[in-house]
Amino acid sequence: MSKPKFAMYWAAACGGCEIAVLNTNEKILDVDANFDVVFWPVAMDAKYKDVEAMADQSILLTLFNGAIRNDENEHIAHLLRKKSQILVAFGACATQGGIPGLANLSSTPSMVDTAFTTLSTDNPDDLRPQTKYTIPEGEITIPTLYPAVKSLDQVVKVDYYMPGCPPESHQIAAVIDLVVQVLQGKAQLPPTGAVIGAGNSSVCEECTRTRNEKKIAKFTRIQDFKPDPDVCLLEQGILCCGAATRSGCGAVCPKAAVPCVGCYGATDDSPDHGARLLNAVASVIDSRDPVEVEKILDGIPDPAGMFYRFGMPGSLLRASKAAWEDKG
Ligand code: SF4
Ligand code: SF4
Repeated sequence: MSKPKFAMYWAAACGGCEIAVLNTNEKILDVDANFDVVFWPVAMDAKYKDVEAMADQSILLTLFNGAIRNDENEHIAHLLRKKSQILVAFGACATQGGIPGLANLSSTPSMVDTAFTTLSTDNPDDLRPQTKYTIPEGEITIPTLYPAVKSLDQVVKVDYYMPGCPPESHQIAAVIDLVVQVLQGKAQLPPTGAVIGAGNSSVCEECTRTRNEKKIAKFTRIQDFKPDPDVCLLEQGILCCGAATRSGCGAVCPKAAVPCVGCYGATDDSPDHGARLLNAVASVIDSRDPVEVEKILDGIPDPAGMFYRFGMPGSLLRASKAAWEDKG
């Protein structure tokens, strides 16, 4: 009997999700034992035309990592949706837009200008990338950047969401185990639309640091002082996003004395991670005087990037005015 088909794709992302899958060590052999891996560009040679030639719904499971940044990303998202029975938004970029989504705070022309004119770029002829270029051998095309980055579910229907930047390998291994058990008739899939490979509470619930009453008169940065190893980082004035972030990673960052930056996204009860974070921070400010509150908040470096580091495209805001107005 032939094995069910498996695919994994990398859109606008850094590659960390692919490494996290490989980090499952011997568990990766279960994928090979139970699936026919038909498309996984980072691990095997396969072309888009191979996928186009497959029957619709012939791939049982596709893990799609990365945001939708350009027309190629969107084309492949539609293609894999059509060919797959189960499409999983895998990692922070696919589920929420992720780090590439921070581009939504700027217009595309301003970003291209920055990339091609700043000191680190040697561009004496002031060239800009072209989406089509003709050479004697034919025409070269490169994908067209979209004005605003999107999460996967903003372009196609998604069956399951697996958060994390990247998803923790033990969570990936647990999901592989579940899928294998489903294939063997020993378990059932969760309801469509569910978050898999994560918890239902907050990172604070998994954190071993002691929490007292939080009141902050000043924010500080982790590199500027040595925090107490046992006390909540937020109480020490370091902006830790644990209270508003979904559990599942085991609080790896605060356990290593690094604040949570929110990569697992919002908890179930929050439609907007950034707003929830803002709320959590506002509740611990030790002042009611607007001028003093503003001064304390000024201590937060890059607030937009801090509160919407992973979730700008999937948030209620989705993009700044500059990105919305960008036609190019
Ligand atoms: S250090 Fe962060 S994750 Fe841990 S209890 Fe404090 S706010 Fe929550
Ligand atoms: S502690 Fe926060 S930033 Fe670190 S892995 Fe967990 S959710 Fe992501």
